[in-house]
Amino acid sequence: MNLNPDILELLKHPKRALIVSLPVRMDNGRVKVFTGMRVQHWDAFGPFKGGIRYHPLVCLDEVKALAIWMSIKTAVVGIPYGGAKGGIVCNPKEMSDNELERLTRRFTHEIIDIIGPYRDVPAPDVYTGAREMAWIYDTYSEAQGYAVPEIVTGKPIAVGGSLGRREAASRGTVITVREAAKHLKFDLKGATVAIQGFGNVGYYAAVLIAEYGSKIVAVSDSQGGIYNPKGFDPKKVMEHKKKTGSVVGFTGTKKVSNEELLELDVDILIPAALENQILAKNAPRIKAKIIGEGANGPTTPEADDILYKNGVFVVPDILANAGGVIVSYMEWVQNLTRESWTEEEVNRKLEERMVQAFDEVYKIHQKEKIHMRTAAYVVALRRITEAVEARGIFP
Ligand code: NAD
Repeated sequence: MNLNPDILELLKHPKRALIVSLPVRMDNGRVKVFTGMRVQHWDAFGPFKGGIRYHPLVCLDEVKALAIWMSIKTAVVGIPYGGAKGGIVCNPKEMSDNELERLTRRFTHEIIDIIGPYRDVPAPDVYTGAREMAWIYDTYSEAQGYAVPEIVTGKPIAVGGSLGRREAASRGTVITVREAAKHLKFDLKGATVAIQGFGNVGYYAAVLIAEYGSKIVAVSDSQGGIYNPKGFDPKKVMEHKKKTGSVVGFTGTKKVSNEELLELDVDILIPAALENQILAKNAPRIKAKIIGEGANGPTTPEADDILYKNGVFVVPDILANAGGVIVSYMEWVQNLTRESWTEEEVNRKLEERMVQAFDEVYKIHQKEKIHMRTAAYVVALRRITEAVEARGIFP
């Protein structure tokens, strides 16, 4: 695309990275200090935007990478946001609800100077959800002295969350997989699907693709995976997970590892857990025809080349899971205007934007004979270049 090297130089560096120490009084009376971070990558189109991840292994480099992907993602789908990401090094599975609340509120307090409805609007990511967003909303609003629902997206509906936001990333992923299947001339009805990760994105992806008549044959979480070639009902698997803490052990299924799940003989594979799952070593064994990247960064660049050569159609993360940030944008707009839209309206707008973005990327992929991922970068970088050239470099 003859990218201007100045643009590349600019995008290599996040605009700002803030690391904060978070002292929290634990339930046993002792104080524990956690590390939190917020990386703001780019904001020429509008406020920084991106989720907050709670994970024992989260680190600054990971959060920087996730922030860059957010900048690219918002540009691929053409919404007026930049890119950011946050993280707290902690293990939420070992913390009580009260400890998590104190941690979330203290983090909000420590980053309060760099966030804001027109500055940086956080959202949920791995091991955070509507509950954490409500605490951020409340802490920020208490500091301002009035309610500011537009400070954060992915909130509970009761405090200004948008209908359709919970399922949005998954709905978008399923829409792009459906569009890919159309081009590959096969029907989602009866297609077999394996999903890695059974959290927000993985679970709703299973439920929504099953509505097209696809058969969910394997799912997994951090404890391992389950497989039944005849298929199973993801809603029943969720009931089992709620009771036992994992998908593993669900009736009529055989246990598989997370690695084995990726290599199953299925039509569609949806990674919806963490980064670096499809690598040069396992990519040659992947049998799926379509990979819809619900997760961010599940495929390494080396693996990408192998998949492309083997004719696997990859819908890249920066396109496939953009439904999350698209409906976050709609939530923000509803909050700013103090309106609320119906679920039908939200889903219709999401469908339109996803299909439009998919078509735009697909055309470049066909015309230039390049990966869908490269094509998505071309779309995003063209938009970013135009914006940077129009605004100029300060001073
Ligand atoms: P979540 O916390 O709701 O779920 C994460 C799931 O991954 C859980 O089922 C967990 O058990 C599983 N998991 C964790 N470690 C694993 C491992 N090593 N192997 C297999 N499974 C593992 O998180 P989420 O919001 O569903 O996010 C999942 C992915 O989707 C992340 O890459 C995230 O960045 C991306 N994403 C999320 C959103 C959103 O709106 N929540 C939007 C776009 C992209």
